[in-house]
Amino acid sequence: MSDVRIDDLPVRDELRGKSPYGAPQLDVPVRLNTNENPYPLPDALVERITERVREAARDLNRYPDRDAVELRTQLAKYLTDTSGYEVGLANVWAANGSNEVIQQLLQTFGGPGRTAIGFEPSYSMHGLISRGTGTGWISGPRNEDFTIDLAAAEKAIAENRPDVVFITTPNNPTGTAVPPETVLALYEAAQAAKPSMVVVDEAYIEFSHGDSLLPLLEGRPNLVVSRTMSKAFGAAGLRLGYLAAHPAVVDAVQLVRLPYHLSAVTQATALAALEHTDTLLKYVEQLKAERDRLVGELLAIGYEVTASDANFVQFGRFDDAHVTWQKILDRGVLVRDNGVPGWLRVTAGTPEENDAFLDAVRELKKEQS
Ligand code: PMP
Repeated sequence: MSDVRIDDLPVRDELRGKSPYGAPQLDVPVRLNTNENPYPLPDALVERITERVREAARDLNRYPDRDAVELRTQLAKYLTDTSGYEVGLANVWAANGSNEVIQQLLQTFGGPGRTAIGFEPSYSMHGLISRGTGTGWISGPRNEDFTIDLAAAEKAIAENRPDVVFITTPNNPTGTAVPPETVLALYEAAQAAKPSMVVVDEAYIEFSHGDSLLPLLEGRPNLVVSRTMSKAFGAAGLRLGYLAAHPAVVDAVQLVRLPYHLSAVTQATALAALEHTDTLLKYVEQLKAERDRLVGELLAIGYEVTASDANFVQFGRFDDAHVTWQKILDRGVLVRDNGVPGWLRVTAGTPEENDAFLDAVRELKKEQS
């Protein structure tokens, strides 16, 4: 049995020789590698989840609310309250993590014979989900400092005429936010080349020094803002992502979503978490302060860092980032090697976790000098 490998099976050509998404899940004392929130959910929220799930459990003989109306209404309220830009139920769609949101968008607007573009390095799943949905992937350029090279990006859009354009702000793994003017310019370029969908991935926006780009949705039906409860809400295990867009986009993704894709348990849990938004957002403030402390300390130790608007920091430079990654791991701290030559990424954890990380990299610096 064991001698049969993926490529021995009649898998689709575009999947041959490819690797799955694979952030290591290692059992080490300090895990700062997947941009999770380090704080367990507060007891009062755990209680509320238990109550809500208990209620939902009685009705598990029935399919869940297929349109997740209560949940989408509360997500719309959260977006309106935090951005000042009014969105309603009809503008919001939810799925199992923003990865599923992205998959549904690509199933709707990408697919065989179509292409998507992203500006790399960026979130690797944009390319992987494109491949998985039969959408051709185009790797767009960035500047040396990892900001988007607007002229080169506009040229790449004009030449390739992609059907979907991904803009990640703040960007993962580099951490930097994209200015609204750049997003607007890319939107215009994408519409001029061929009416195409522009997906702004705001998975980390709550950690940003700047504001959400939600107000840009006004009058732009081909713009989508994607969000998640995995980061700011500290609920990566919940698997709840959502988007805000013109109601026609929400109608369009219904063409590809599986019926009853969001379980009643997921909906109940997400609603409980949204009731505790204020408490959860206080952790965001703590994490932003820790992120800024990481940036300051890394610079003081003598590393380079990329400006960060997220709950993680990209730091370097290393002759061989993977060797350094292993040395940090040997000291009990797991960070992330995203394959960006010379750079690693560390997620802001608790103050104690961050101290452990800083001690490890301080030691490494001493060893090198
Ligand atoms: N977008 C970006 C930029 C991310 O970094 C991630 C997770 N690492 C996601 C989307 C997906 O998050 P989730 O599926 O947990 O919502």
